[in-house]
Amino acid sequence: MLSVLRSIVQEVNAAPDLGVALELIVERVHEAMNTEVCSIYLLDPESNRYILMATKGLNPGAIGKVKLGHSEGLVGLVGVREEPLNLHNAPAHPRYRYFPETGEEKYKSFLGVPIIHHRKVLGVLVVQQRASRLFDEGEEAFLVTISAQLAAIIAHGEATDIISGLDFTGQKAKDICFKGVAGSAGVAIGSCVVFYPHADLNSVPDKECTDIDEEIAFFESAVESVRQDIRDVGARLASQLRPEEQALFDVYLGMLDDTALSGEVKNIIHKGLWAQGALREVVQEYVRHFESINDPYLRERAVDIKDLGQRVLAYLQKPDCGEQKEFPPETILVSEELTPSMLGEVPKENLKALVSVLGSGNSHVAILARAMGLPCVMGVVDMPIGKLDGRQVIVDGYKGEVYSHLSPELLSSYSVLVEEEEQISKGFDELRDLPCVTTDGHHISMWVNTGLMTDVMRSLNHGAEGVGLYRTEVPFMINDRFPSEMEQRDCYREQLEAFAPSMVTMRTLDIGGDKSLTYFPIKEENPFLGWRGIRVTLDHPEIFLVQVRAMLKASEGLDNLRIMLPMISNISEVEEALHLIYRVYHEVREEGVDVKMPPVGVMIEVPSAVFQVKEISERVDFVSVGSNDLTQYMLAVDRNNPRVASLYHSFHPAVLQALYKIVCDAHAAGKQASICGELAGDPGGAILLTAMGYDVLSMNAVNLPKVKQVLRSVSLRWAEDVLRRLLNMDSPQVVKSSLELALKEIGFEHFGRPFRHTA
Ligand code: PEP
Ligand code: MG
Repeated sequence: MLSVLRSIVQEVNAAPDLGVALELIVERVHEAMNTEVCSIYLLDPESNRYILMATKGLNPGAIGKVKLGHSEGLVGLVGVREEPLNLHNAPAHPRYRYFPETGEEKYKSFLGVPIIHHRKVLGVLVVQQRASRLFDEGEEAFLVTISAQLAAIIAHGEATDIISGLDFTGQKAKDICFKGVAGSAGVAIGSCVVFYPHADLNSVPDKECTDIDEEIAFFESAVESVRQDIRDVGARLASQLRPEEQALFDVYLGMLDDTALSGEVKNIIHKGLWAQGALREVVQEYVRHFESINDPYLRERAVDIKDLGQRVLAYLQKPDCGEQKEFPPETILVSEELTPSMLGEVPKENLKALVSVLGSGNSHVAILARAMGLPCVMGVVDMPIGKLDGRQVIVDGYKGEVYSHLSPELLSSYSVLVEEEEQISKGFDELRDLPCVTTDGHHISMWVNTGLMTDVMRSLNHGAEGVGLYRTEVPFMINDRFPSEMEQRDCYREQLEAFAPSMVTMRTLDIGGDKSLTYFPIKEENPFLGWRGIRVTLDHPEIFLVQVRAMLKASEGLDNLRIMLPMISNISEVEEALHLIYRVYHEVREEGVDVKMPPVGVMIEVPSAVFQVKEISERVDFVSVGSNDLTQYMLAVDRNNPRVASLYHSFHPAVLQALYKIVCDAHAAGKQASICGELAGDPGGAILLTAMGYDVLSMNAVNLPKVKQVLRSVSLRWAEDVLRRLLNMDSPQVVKSSLELALKEIGFEHFGRPFRHTA
């Protein structure tokens, strides 16, 4: 059964549109289960009715005509109950509803299973038979399994068809909303620029070609270059291969012939599509064909075709490489998987927002977006990005939504919001030189998190009083090898000088998890629970020692350095790291560098460390909470996984209790407690953290003025009252909405949702 399942899923996955996918599903399920009827009903969200979309066995003329209310008939019952319904005599069931146009009166047995994607019922998959019998357990399990696997494909197919104007309800698409997760707050309106990694066939968009002959000549020259490459590889390997193995290169070359791939691509170019798009169409068709073949050897040929396609594509894209891609003034950068290097390709002033199909709000790309003050939506898995290139969209980074096919009403209401945000942000400039004190005189230090040099400028403009987290992995990530001691020293010096005499907290290299270096790949089953942060650097003292040496040397004459250790989960890690830091300190002094021993601190971001804050504090100068990871580890919710993003609650009562315990225990040991996770940059979070007694809130510079404005308008007593009430609540949602209400009561209605600064 497993191989049948797999081949159905593969085939359906490769279908060019929803219609074909649905037809394939009914055909194949009908065949695999040997039933007389298999049908799919999809729920139309506009009319809230199920529509018969495909059938094998019922009258095909009924397709699109049979429609049932959302709780009508047996299909409606399956949808409402969200579970399978297995009947040996369906017509006798009180909910049975007869449609003469289907001819289904002949069928007695009925098995219907809901098609559910992200908790939403998309439709119902039904099999029927003449004979009166119950479908057995195995059949039921098969249908449930196939429905679960196909749900995502159907959801994606629906979205793609709506975009292409093939909406199955026949209605004109309007304000199509793609749901993702909030990556960075703010709203933006602009044109999509789809960014695809070089030579990624799947992300090539559709485009018309203006000069067909020129396009064909261009394609032919790309194919010729690939041929030459393959011949070269063949010749290089000739001495190591047997003749029959060498013949494989001829097979490869044959696939590129005009009688095969090339000829078909040219046919499509003749119809007006550009070469890249035509290549994508043909390669995908071949791949679909090969992947659906049961023979494992032939199935593998799909890989060859894909490889050839990518090679040709690389040549088609190469002439563009040196050229600047066009970025309109209001660019919304969209990609299958947004990477930090992609952000760098767009001129800063043109980039308005980011959208990524993969990833989640807690991934580092999203953190980067927050640091840059760009609205960002992550994990928009059902968005067919190839169809959206050049289209106007709205990005709502508060709700984690992207809208296309905009109605004038939606466009105008979002334009007002964009304008409003710009107005509010202008008022922040006056706040810059004012201290962050509550109305009853309590001072809280407002520090910033940095990584890029652009953060530094923005931080200074926003009145940062220090750096609570400098993510040193950023300079490591933009390199293609470990940066040398000198390179690191120069880079750290820039940071230290920019903020001197304010303190700069430099975190030692925190790689692993979702942060990998291309030149030091870490492949693990479970990277967030694996080789990460201090675990890597203690295993590689040569990396750690060079980094600390560079930091110390960079601070000469400034003495505003603090060193911070990430991912500490036990005391011996602290002791080992301290030992190495002292060793470097003495060595550097012996070399004649005149530096003071910097304060050393530990990040509290693993639950075990929460319970050892006292012991840790006795050994170091400060602790700083990494609430992003602490939340992830306490709630066992991967911060990058969009499937569980709705379970990631920084206001979870357990997280709040932990945060409170950390500050109390650190203070009892006489040490400073700061926090540098995203929670500190949330106005509601900042109120709670201030009330708990945190000495330093470190956040991305974009959020600093907003948090400062809120804290300057409240009294510590009021904040403590709010905290007391909230600490007794048992649900994260209730905590969050109570906080929003509290903010609203003091006149910060807008601030319940975090908000973007556009400076
Ligand atoms: C954190 O985990 O809260 C933190 C500040 O570190 P990072 O986000 O870089 O893991
Ligand atoms: Mg962390």
